[in-house]
This record gives sequence, C-alpha cells and structure tokens, in this order.
Amino acid sequence: MSRVPHHLRRVRKEWTKGTRAPRAGRLDDPELAEDYASRERMRPRAVAIETVADVDLLPLGQVMRVESGRYDVRPLERPDEILACRVKRAATTENERSTLVVIGDNVRFQPLEDGRGIIHHVELRRTRMGRAAVSGTATRSAEHVIAANVDVLLCTISADRPDFRRTIVDRFIVAALVGGIEPVVVVNKIDTAEGEVEELLREEMAIYEEIGYRVLFVSAATGAGLEELTGTLAGRMAALVGQSGVGKSSLVNALTGDETRRTGEVRERDRRGAHTTVDSAMLPLPGGGWLVDTPGIREFGIWDLEPGELDGYFVEFLPYIRECRYTPCTHTHEPDCAVRAAAKEGGIDPGRYASYLAIFESLGPRGRG
Ligand code: GDP
Ligand code: ZN
Repeated sequence: MSRVPHHLRRVRKEWTKGTRAPRAGRLDDPELAEDYASRERMRPRAVAIETVADVDLLPLGQVMRVESGRYDVRPLERPDEILACRVKRAATTENERSTLVVIGDNVRFQPLEDGRGIIHHVELRRTRMGRAAVSGTATRSAEHVIAANVDVLLCTISADRPDFRRTIVDRFIVAALVGGIEPVVVVNKIDTAEGEVEELLREEMAIYEEIGYRVLFVSAATGAGLEELTGTLAGRMAALVGQSGVGKSSLVNALTGDETRRTGEVRERDRRGAHTTVDSAMLPLPGGGWLVDTPGIREFGIWDLEPGELDGYFVEFLPYIRECRYTPCTHTHEPDCAVRAAAKEGGIDPGRYASYLAIFESLGPRGRG
C-alpha cells in the first residue's frame, strides 16, 4: 500500500475516535504531521473527516503530458519526479460540467510505491481553452476543454500574402478573452514580406497595439523576433493557435529548441521502446515558461458565448456601447448605434467592426461557432 493513504487511514481513526490529535512522532513527514495537527485543532471533536478533506492533504501537481489515458503529473514539491498517473474512478473536480482532466490541470494525486500515481481531484482552472462539446442536447452543453491554465494565447497568422487573414486574428482574440487568456498577435514568416508589403502589414497590425494587444513579427525560418517572443513568455504558459500552414509546428520547434525534442525522444524510448503518439504535452521553453503542444488546439474557437455578449470582448467598443440608443444593442442594424457610427467615422477600425459582424452572425441561434 502507498504511504499517503496509510497515513490518512490512521488520521481518520484518530479523528473519528474524537479524542486527541495524532502525535507528530508517528508520522514520517513532519510537514504532513503539522498539517494534520493544525487541521485537528480547528475541527470539532468526534466528527469524521470528509473525502474532500482527505483530498486536500494529497500532494499537488500539474498534468504535463497526456497520452492515451495516461497523465504525467509533475509534483509541485518535487518537479523532477514525473509520475505516470491514471484518474481515479470517482475523482472529484472543481470545474463543473467540463472535461475532467486536461493538459495543464493542477491536480491532487496519490503517489504509489512503484513511481506511478492516481489523480483524485482536479483544482479550479485559472483559464481554459475550449471548444463546444459535441452533443445533441438542446441546452448549453458541457464544455469541452483542450488545455487548462494557459496564460498567453499566441494568435498566429502568416505574413505570406495569400494566407493572411485578419478576421482569423479577431476570432482568436475573442476566444482567448472568453477563456480568460491574454491574446498576443504573432505574425510569422516575416522573412517573406519586404519593403512596401512589410510596411503595409505593420500598418495594418498596428490597430491591435492601439487597442492594447502585443503584436510580434517573427520568422520561424530565420529566427527573427523569436528572442522577443521568448521574453514575452518567460515564466508563463503559452499555446499557439492559427490556421494550418501559418507555421505553428515550425514555431514550436524554433521556440523549444533541440533540447526538448531530444528529451522527448529519450522518454519515448524508455517507456515503450517504440515510437508513441503524444496527445498533448507542456514543452519547456529555454527562457523559462512552457508551450502547450496539442493537436486539439486546431479546433479551438469561440464557444459558449451568446451573440449579445460578443461586444464585451471587443475592448475598443466599450466606450461607445453606452452611447447606443437601445439597450441592449446588437450594433448590427439599430438606429443611433454609437458603435456603428464610430466604425464609419474612424473611432473604431472598420475591419474590426466587420469581424464583429461576421462573428456575431456565426454565433446566431443556428450555426454557432
Ligand atoms: P502549421 O500547419 O501551422 O504547423 O505550419 P508548418 O509549421 O507546418 O509550416 C507550414 C509551411 O510554412 C512549411 O513549409 C514551413 O517550412 C513554412 N514556414 C514556417 N515558418 C516559416 C517562416 O518563418 N518563413 C518561411 N518562409 N516559411 C515558413
Ligand atoms: Zn449599438
């Protein structure tokens, strides 16, 4: 049997007997012992501890890698010891009606003697990247989360003219904000744009800086701008989104460097002696911080948003919204709409307003997305 549940059983006995606090000398870990003792002092006598209280005593870790039902957890206290975990059947979560465990989740786990572990509980997510759950139910379905606790969403487009789509950036920005994540606009393949084209591109992207978002021009091919990008990500967790072909894989490789890939190969050989498919992983960045690499991010989009809530995610609209004649105003057709007027007169970028209309339409009662 594993150490922690053993301790817990002992403590439970003491507490339910309701006589005295467990003596510290009987517990191997002084920190745990002190924790038990302080909890005991705060608790009325002769009250059995709840399952939740048990869970609180388990060590905390983060899900670093997900691979066909196996969750690699990095303990907070011992970050060098990754444990291959499975999820307990009756695992509890603080995230209601949502995917139980995803990459980036903070979990309470029970270490087992063989270096494996069991996830008992999932902590409340600080941020979430999600998509609408595939479900036939009429009501708002449970959310399907792809990654948890991502700090920065790198909304990536390509400077290569045929691929360049600004409205895509606006969709990703809204999606990031809905999930509580900071959007950063990344224009990749800047090496392909020269002279006038580059100038025009920078001019066009300046709108995002004006409304408060960081814009970075980079090249995965030449390495241009990557240092600044790495600096932005230091100590944070980032994820890359963008249409196919904008250079996401190239950027992952350029940002994480050879070291990560080498580590990945070694681990794969160790475990199964053969190549394995990784569903998702948190890759360490050389400047500190992490990059979430998961195939599901391709499907990341705006979900769980009522059309009437959309204007709240276009930050530059906010000063105008209260000037609209009607409340609520959808800013699509109403007379005396201050947002529409500002888009005509230049207070709001017409391109951004066009994006708003397109996204609003797509969020309609039919065909959301
Ligand atoms: P993904 O589909 O978003 O993962 O895109 P990839 O990383 O597979 O890249 C798509 C294509 O763009 C590949 O042919 C890359 O070599 C190319 N590419 C990626 N980054 C750059 C870049 O910075 N400059 C140039 N010129 N090509 C790039
Ligand atoms: Zn309006």
